[in-house]
Amino acid sequence: MALKLHEESISTGLYRQIVQYSMNEIYIFNPETLEFMMVNRGARENLGYTMAELANMTLLDIIPGTEIPNSRRAIEPLLKGEKERFFYNTIHCRKDGSFYPVEVNLQLYSYRGKKVCMALVADLTERRKLEEDLREREALLSAVTQSAGEAIIMLNEKGMVAFWNPAAEKLFGYLQEEILGKDLHRLVLLDEQSYRAYKNSFIHFQSTGEGNNIGKIVELKAKNKAGEILDVELTLTAVKRKEGLYTIGVVRDIGKRKKVEEQVYLLTITDPLTKIYNRRYFTHKLEEEIERSKRAESKFSLIMLDIDCFKSINDRFGHNAGDLVLKSIAELIKNRIRKIDTLARWGGEEFVILLPDTTVNNAARLAEELRESLSQMDMPGVRRVTASFGVVGYCPGDTVDILVNKVDNMMYEAKAAGRNCVRYTEECE
Ligand code: GH3
Ligand code: MG
Ligand code: MG
Repeated sequence: MALKLHEESISTGLYRQIVQYSMNEIYIFNPETLEFMMVNRGARENLGYTMAELANMTLLDIIPGTEIPNSRRAIEPLLKGEKERFFYNTIHCRKDGSFYPVEVNLQLYSYRGKKVCMALVADLTERRKLEEDLREREALLSAVTQSAGEAIIMLNEKGMVAFWNPAAEKLFGYLQEEILGKDLHRLVLLDEQSYRAYKNSFIHFQSTGEGNNIGKIVELKAKNKAGEILDVELTLTAVKRKEGLYTIGVVRDIGKRKKVEEQVYLLTITDPLTKIYNRRYFTHKLEEEIERSKRAESKFSLIMLDIDCFKSINDRFGHNAGDLVLKSIAELIKNRIRKIDTLARWGGEEFVILLPDTTVNNAARLAEELRESLSQMDMPGVRRVTASFGVVGYCPGDTVDILVNKVDNMMYEAKAAGRNCVRYTEECE
């Protein structure tokens, strides 16, 4: 008997210790009077009351007045015996008057024929603060994405749109509600071929985590809702989520920049007076054509023409009339040559024409035709204008300098032969 009592007192002491030092606040109270029977150390420390003070208090004394009706209502089912345990949220009031939000887990027990109630209480201050922080961060993030000038788009692991900000609506013309959950690439890629290429790389990306464009800035063309082609710059990031890899794309409209770049490029390759290509562009084209001929063993020819006695035209009719002659000649030749030919202003009153896949003889025939048309042209304010033509064909080993030198020589031979004529080299084997 003594041993049993001893054992009982040991286990009771153990339980008391567990309750006292529990991380939870534990309150044991009379369910009828709501008077405290025991309040553990954690609860006492948080509330700031001693056990002696709490002994004369009820559950309602640690709840702010405004919360009392709610709390009464909350514990009613327990008191009526309708429920044995349940949760509710309320507020506790410390001795110093400060409050803290709590979650209460109420349980009813029978002990030696009497009913006792135990409240396991968790202080929610930290959790609420975390929730508040999270809400604040979400609001901040949302403000950033909503006001961003760039389209911000997120695709889920299946490539379906999971996020779409107002700038994306503006750029692509699709409202958020009509595009969420849709296969974005089906809608914005230009053709079936690029869609298939994208699909393959997307599957590879999802299975390996490797994507060609991840972490890079790429320029590409996309289609908006109206079917217009857009020039865009895309920055891609991958985000790991439990479902798979999500991709976040920031898309910027670079249409205006592209247009300016194009205009600047055109300026660098165009002759401002005649609007045909300049010498720089022609040299570049000639280099390309030499390379192409080496690979494909194709033939091409060059024509160079120089206006005869142009100085005297300027002297007699004025510089403006001279300018007009240059423009008219450029126009005449442009209208006669093929699309694959390149006409450029080589210098003051010299023009060059690059004729791909053309033999010297055919080029010479074209030069003769141009010479004839020019000589019969009615130049406004200026009477007859003629030009002397040199023609050469590309021979293996020729460089840009060699070819230009050869065609220049031919043109001077035409001058020496009395002007207004064509001189050309032999066809090379
Ligand atoms: P040749 O028959 O031997 O070629 O005689 P040319 O008078 O045509 O040759 P020259 O080289 O003596 O004179 C070329 C002239 O072309 C001199 C220059 O004032 C004129 N010229 C060059 N560029 C322009 C231009 O942009 N506009 C005008 N109006 N004249 C130009
Ligand atoms: Mg000249
Ligand atoms: Mg001249």
